[in-house]
Amino acid sequence: MIIIFFGPPGAGKGTQALLIAKKLNIPHLSTGDILRKKLLDTDDLSQKLKKIMDSGNLVSDNILNKIVGDRLIRSDCNNGFILDGYPRTIIQNNFLINFLKNNKLSVSLIIDLKVSESTIITRIKARSNKESRGDDKLSIIKTRISKYLEETKPLSDYYSSNHLKNYHLINGNQKIEMIERDIEKIAKNKDFH
Ligand code: ADP
Repeated sequence: MIIIFFGPPGAGKGTQALLIAKKLNIPHLSTGDILRKKLLDTDDLSQKLKKIMDSGNLVSDNILNKIVGDRLIRSDCNNGFILDGYPRTIIQNNFLINFLKNNKLSVSLIIDLKVSESTIITRIKARSNKESRGDDKLSIIKTRISKYLEETKPLSDYYSSNHLKNYHLINGNQKIEMIERDIEKIAKNKDFH
């Protein structure tokens, strides 16, 4: 089972992706988490990545496609996987579509979390108090939101028109449990247990 999560920063993709990954016992691939782990290194690449991420910009497609390509061929992805934060651009989406085609796989479910800008700001403020992520400053949020609207929103629009049966827009302004319940309902209808 292959699930893609879409939604703006602060939509709760990571929280929900993790919950469903545990339920289905398949890996949760968060490109944000993978990149943040890389920042712990002290090489030149990690310095470069930190600058890009802290400014709210996107890391290059080549780096992301390599990270995801290497990860998806590992055996724990054989029964499926959950993508959280990828694809974020057309080039990444083309890479993914190609990968799936070459491996005779298809996307089972696309979950798009819709949230208002005020919810995004409230949540990111709360997260910046707890986690101290370099990109969770209010001044950076605007850049992240506009990157999302310019680069990533067209991809969820693509999936909503081309994968109508598997695409689900969910109200991400709700409490965690309510969003979880909505996703579970969809998963049940698809016989995912
Ligand atoms: P968000 O809460 O903004 O969705 P993430 O944890 O998914 O945050 O990502 C944090 C940062 O990591 C992004 O702002 C970006 O710089 C980088 N990043 C994560 N995934 C990608 C991707 N697929 N392509 C380019 N950059 C990415």
